[in-house]
Amino acid sequence: MERIYIGMGSNLAEPAEQLRSAVQALAQLPDTQLVGVSAFYQSDSLLPGQPRYTNAVAALDSLLAPLDLLDALQAIETGQGRERLERWGPRTLDLDILLFGDRLIDEPHLKVPHYHMQARAFVLYPLAELAPADLRLADGRLLKDLLAACPFVGLERLPPA
Ligand code: ATP
Ligand code: MG
Ligand code: MG
Repeated sequence: MERIYIGMGSNLAEPAEQLRSAVQALAQLPDTQLVGVSAFYQSDSLLPGQPRYTNAVAALDSLLAPLDLLDALQAIETGQGRERLERWGPRTLDLDILLFGDRLIDEPHLKVPHYHMQARAFVLYPLAELAPADLRLADGRLLKDLLAACPFVGLERLPPA
């Protein structure tokens, strides 16, 4: 089993419900256990003119191979109505693989650690709720250093539903 962290985001069609449905779907993946889910956060869209996002991070233990997990995540996105019309467009559900055990993955369709996580407060702060305090990414960076360089700005931690 490898410990995997999934970044989740939605800004269409009842975002919090989308994330709750996604968590149910993650829990049903084959050869996989759901280990934890962070609080939900709201953040402004990185692009102007879109509704605010709801974000969270889920932790899994899984035997799935990385590309099989990516396929499964994309099937969950599609199942929840994700349409890919424009890059970074509004979406019902985005599921990104943030970290996959201690693997560095550089495949055409899969880069892990997720390439923009260091710049995204809506990824780092929920991740920090689940990850060990001394977590070191496969590329050597420490999560606590990424957090220290990424202010908690534009982010709102939601109370439990
Ligand atoms: P961003 O990558 O900036 O968060 P996005 O999540 O909106 O943007 P998507 O449209 O969901 O982008 O995915 C675009 C492609 O990114 C996918 O087809 C997938 O192959 C690729 N990809 C590369 N690395 C990852 C990863 N770690 N997790 C999920 N998708 C990835
Ligand atoms: Mg994304
Ligand atoms: Mg994505």
